[in-house]
Amino acid sequence: MSDLTELYQSVILDHNRRPQNKGAMEQADAHADGRNPLCGDQLTVWLRFDGDVITDVTFVGTGCAISQASASLMTQAIKGKTRAEAESMFTQVHDMVRGHTPPPADARGPLGALAALSGVSRFPVRVKCASLAWHTMKAAMDDPSAGAGQVASVSTE
Ligand code: ZN
Repeated sequence: MSDLTELYQSVILDHNRRPQNKGAMEQADAHADGRNPLCGDQLTVWLRFDGDVITDVTFVGTGCAISQASASLMTQAIKGKTRAEAESMFTQVHDMVRGHTPPPADARGPLGALAALSGVSRFPVRVKCASLAWHTMKAAMDDPSAGAGQVASVSTE
């Protein structure tokens, strides 16, 4: 188990140091701001769609390593997925980080690298750090003004 924990920590640190898909998006179809006041994490997530498929997703943000790594992992996970697939991932990750489902046995499961986030379930104050990117992504997807350039806001408080 400790090997696994070390692997997960290295995934988090790696994504925090070299985040994927970081940067504001021009001409996004939807975006949302999210913040986690408990920790001071802030994120903005942008989405672009082709029909039902998320063709591009980016984020910018500040905050702790877990919040930023989680955002990086989230963008990697949902790019190219349908809205329904992204919603399903949201539910799976949300359950996992809250410890409602057992952590994946390894990183080869359906959640792939997202399994690295499972470690936070042992640290309740970190759950919101890990789930912020997902709440923000979902807020952007659910934003009825998507396409109108308005900003949805979400707070995990
Ligand atoms: Zn945090």
